[in-house]
Amino acid sequence: MKPYFPFLFFGVTLFSQPVENPNNSILNVISSINIIKSKMDTLTTFKTEWVDSLKLVLPCKNVNVPKRSMRLPNAPRDYRNGTHRGIDFFANWGTPVRAVADGVVVRADKNYKEVPAKFRENMLDATTKVGNTPSDIFNSILLGRAIFIDHGFNLISGFRVISIYAHLSHINENIIPGAILKAGSALGKSGNSGMRESTLGLKSGAHLHWELILQTGKDEIYLGKDVSNPELYNMLKHIFK
Ligand SMILES: [Zn+2]
Repeated sequence: MKPYFPFLFFGVTLFSQPVENPNNSILNVISSINIIKSKMDTLTTFKTEWVDSLKLVLPCKNVNVPKRSMRLPNAPRDYRNGTHRGIDFFANWGTPVRAVADGVVVRADKNYKEVPAKFRENMLDATTKVGNTPSDIFNSILLGRAIFIDHGFNLISGFRVISIYAHLSHINENIIPGAILKAGSALGKSGNSGMRESTLGLKSGAHLHWELILQTGKDEIYLGKDVSNPELYNMLKHIFK
């Protein structure tokens, strides 16, 4: 085999030299890098035009989008070293909660039992050490009694979309994984599960935490990520009928 190798190498070099591949031109390489970069940008930066035609039902009837930025997406949540991904609707304990759009129930914490206060505190200590809110602590502890709904791929073009309803005090009997829902279907009642007050046996602090997550590729992005006010508030007001 050995004697043939130099000839093969020589042949390939000779053959490839006169023909320049247009895909390798500097201009072409730069433009492909730009395409890849803009695709990566779409995964990390929320674009308000994605939801220009999106219309959702308010999760609690007559409870409008709050104005205060601390109750909206992107607000800092220092107690858990994280960022708020959703909207905290002013809903008193026991306010009926409904689906914002057609979908299928993915998670419904029917048998939720509040966690011990000390355990929750230990989990929050862990968020400090990590410097972020780890997804397991967020999903399993801090959301409390929650419902997740899968809205499929038709709600926002190019994404799978899910909605999350957290801190509930009650989940309706028919809300089980696989249940098919229409926009406005009753889900349960608001509360304060997953919050410090709940672990202490109190009913204070009740509200509906609601969020919308868009998924594509290996990334997820929450509704309104890094959109600043007043654009954020106006966008949310426009989405809810
Ligand atoms: Zn919240």
